[in-house]
This record gives sequence, C-alpha cells and structure tokens, in this order.
Amino acid sequence: MSKGILMVVSGPSGAGKSTVVQELVAQTEGTYLSISVTTRSPRPFEKQGEHYYFVSESEFRSMIEGGELLEYAEYAGNFYGTPAVEVDKMLSEGKDVILEIDIQGGLQVKERRPDVVLAFLIPPTVEELESRLRLRGSESEMTIRKRLEIAEREYKNVSQYDYVVVNDNVEDAAARLQAILVAERCSAKRVNPKDIKKC
Ligand code: ADP
Ligand code: 5GP
Repeated sequence: MSKGILMVVSGPSGAGKSTVVQELVAQTEGTYLSISVTTRSPRPFEKQGEHYYFVSESEFRSMIEGGELLEYAEYAGNFYGTPAVEVDKMLSEGKDVILEIDIQGGLQVKERRPDVVLAFLIPPTVEELESRLRLRGSESEMTIRKRLEIAEREYKNVSQYDYVVVNDNVEDAAARLQAILVAERCSAKRVNPKDIKKC
C-alpha cells in the first residue's frame, strides 16, 4: 500500500479551520482528520474522541514523557498535541492525514517529517476574523483578545509555510485545499509508480 500525504492546516483561531477541514474530509475520499489531545475544557457541543481527546495536564505530561506525541504546543494557556501512532497507522494504510494544528506544531512536524505539506488558512480580513470569533460565541472577551494577539504573531510566520488559502467561502477554501492535495500526490518527488495513472 502506498504512503498517504501528511498535510498540516494552520491559521488564526476563528479563520474557519475546523469548518473548512470538515468540508475537505467530507468531499475527499481517502482523507482523514487526526484527533488531537488537549488539556482545554470541551466547548458545549464538543464530544470526547470526536473533536479532541480531552485529558488532564498530568495525563498530557505522561504522553510527552512516553514519546507518544508527534508534536505538541502550548496555546493560550492550554496544551495541544498530535498522537503519533494513529497518524502513522493511517499514513501507512495510504490514507491522507490532515493535522489541524497551530504554527508552532506545524513547524515541529516539518522538522520530523520533511515531506509534510504546510497550508495556512486565513480569513479575508482581520475584521472578519474578529467577527467570526465573536459569532462563534465559544470564548470569553479576554480569550478572544488573547487569540487575536496570537493571530497577529502567527501571520509573521506564514512564509515558512508551503501554501496560503483564503477562507472567503467554505466550499471554495475546501476545494483549494483539495487541489493542493491532488497536486502534491503528483509531485515528482513523491509520486508512486502504482498511482501515476491518476496524475
Ligand atoms: P477555527 O477552527 O479556525 O478556530 P471555526 O471553524 O471554528 O474556526 O470557525 C469560526 C467561526 O467562523 C464559526 O462560527 C464558523 O461557522 C464561521 N466560519 C467558518 N468559515 C466561514 C466562512 N467562510 N464564512 C463565514 N463564516 C465562517
Ligand atoms: P481550539 O482551542 O480553538 O480548538 O484550538 C486552538 C489552537 O490550537 C488552534 O490554532 C488549533 O489549530 C491548535 N491545535 C489543535 N490541536 C492541536 C495539536 O494537536 N497540536 C498543536 N500544536 N496545535 C493544535
């Protein structure tokens, strides 16, 4: 079985990563989302093992010590990380795996897996980002401020990513991410002779 593509989707909180990646996975056969581990409290609609694996800080620390995480980062006072075993299993089965993680995590993955594809999702304007964060209604005013400050810092690192996608409209942004996956599958550096007919 050929090895799948590992793609990171980062971007400021509220840019629409969850929404667009959900659409991408629904529209793209063979593409799966990695479920992260976090010490953040669940939002009202979030389910254990579906949106995240919600764990305590001591459980998270023991995962770090056990070398179970492909990458991890602290974001706005909470820890987030990617369980390595599940990602590697999917990739070895030829599935494409999407990591919806922050920039610090994306750059760690790039060091460990140089063939990762790094995509950065941005809102059309900063005003739209603020409005989406408020409309989502899941964070306090203080947390929204903190997330907007982090967003400003994150924009400065965009040049270390491979692609930028503007989320003006969910279907279009998902289609552009899908086009990136299609192009990467046919990259001369990684194309598998068995799949070459699809290129
Ligand atoms: P992220 O995962 O990047 O933090 P979400 O996917 O939670 O962002 O989206 C933040 C808010 O913006 C949600 O309420 C979502 O429904 C909304 N949203 C996402 N994409 C768009 C879009 N293209 N146009 C308008 N609203 C959007
Ligand atoms: P949220 O609290 O809004 O779900 O996520 C906050 C930030 O953490 C987002 O930028 C999200 O992409 C990032 N994030 C989610 N899971 C992971 C992960 O496993 N690793 C890293 N480094 N960041 C993550």
